[in-house]
Amino acid sequence: MNIIYDTMFDSNTIDRFEKIATPFYFYDMDLLRRTVDQVHDLAQKHNLRVHYAVKANSNEKILREISAKGFGADCVSGNEVLHAHECGFPADRIVYAGVGKSDKEICNAMRLGIEAFNCESLQEIFVINEMAREYGMVANVSVRINPDIDAHTHKYVTTGLYENKFGISQHEFDKLIELIGKSRNINFIGLHFHIGSQITRVAEVFALECRRVNELVAYFERNGLEVKNINLGGGLGVDYDDPDGNPIPDFQTWFSTIDREIVRRPNQTVHVEPGRSIVAQCGTLISRVMFVKSGETKNFLIMDAGMNDLIRPALYGAYHRIENLSATMRPFFPSHQAYDIVGPVCESSDVWGAGRLLPLSVRGDLMAIRSTGAYGQVMASRYNMKDLAPAVYSDSIDDAPEKIDYFKML
Ligand SMILES: *Cc1c(COP(=O)(O)O)cnc(C)c1O
Repeated sequence: MNIIYDTMFDSNTIDRFEKIATPFYFYDMDLLRRTVDQVHDLAQKHNLRVHYAVKANSNEKILREISAKGFGADCVSGNEVLHAHECGFPADRIVYAGVGKSDKEICNAMRLGIEAFNCESLQEIFVINEMAREYGMVANVSVRINPDIDAHTHKYVTTGLYENKFGISQHEFDKLIELIGKSRNINFIGLHFHIGSQITRVAEVFALECRRVNELVAYFERNGLEVKNINLGGGLGVDYDDPDGNPIPDFQTWFSTIDREIVRRPNQTVHVEPGRSIVAQCGTLISRVMFVKSGETKNFLIMDAGMNDLIRPALYGAYHRIENLSATMRPFFPSHQAYDIVGPVCESSDVWGAGRLLPLSVRGDLMAIRSTGAYGQVMASRYNMKDLAPAVYSDSIDDAPEKIDYFKML
């Protein structure tokens, strides 16, 4: 294991962090802007349309930054649809996926006039057609197909295998074509795919996806459905081991693979839905060491951030790089030791990392849990009645809630 003592955070930033109440999510808005700019330029070069997957991070400031670049939004609930719209995404660039859309959610999205419902079952298409008829409308529908592809990623974040709950599978294609043919209040616009998340074998897996998609598009067109819109979903992985070495994920390989492999006519548009890859590296969960405890064979660092703030390690066994920021400010680096870093929540799975090598750490040290901009704050809960960690943005650090020194007040 590599010894961790370097950090991207400079001494001025760490000084300012010292005064802020922990835990909090810190967002590097400059990195977000650079990432979004790069995605925008590469998407233009390869002629792709980008819909940001709102579920990865739905902070208003972050959404406004992304919508300002002209991207669309990919939503998975009615509230995400409404929120994305309020944060600057035009209704006709919002697509709405999800296996379980309620009547109320469908109704609100339909009235807003979204770009498309990405439908995941025959019954959903039937219900949307009925509701559209009721309102005297025609709803745009794209159909999510389960392409039966292994994304080579964690079993909880792979979505394109035959036995997953997502999308419509091959054995229902005949019924699907018949249903679309007789549904007068839907306008079929295309096919939607999303095979999984945190995909790191980028060229290989996305080339496989494109080849399968080419076959499926050809199949539906042979059967009389014009596929105007080919939506390939998201899934680009990020480097959790080395966020400073790779702050911007490999959009170049992802987009150029699609451009090379996908078969498209001039009137067909190709869409992608990155979530994690846009926001993960710009976020850091900042926490403090509350107690240092020596076990029989181990040393524990007990942090004030827990699985209620960031559930990924407890939920998927996810790895996040952890740095001791305060130690980098001490004039001499004391020797490194192995720590089990844990949270305060009453669950054995509330562990940040086992056997992590860190400089000698003491009560009060500021710790950075890196690459937490995606699926972090959005999944936070108030389990154990903990307060929700607030967001602090790099361009307005001074607005952050100040730390109160209870000890001195006594
Ligand atoms: C979650 C999701 C995405 C985004 O996935 P990432 O791995 O975060 O890029 C895109 N499309 C759909 C339909 C999703 O459910």
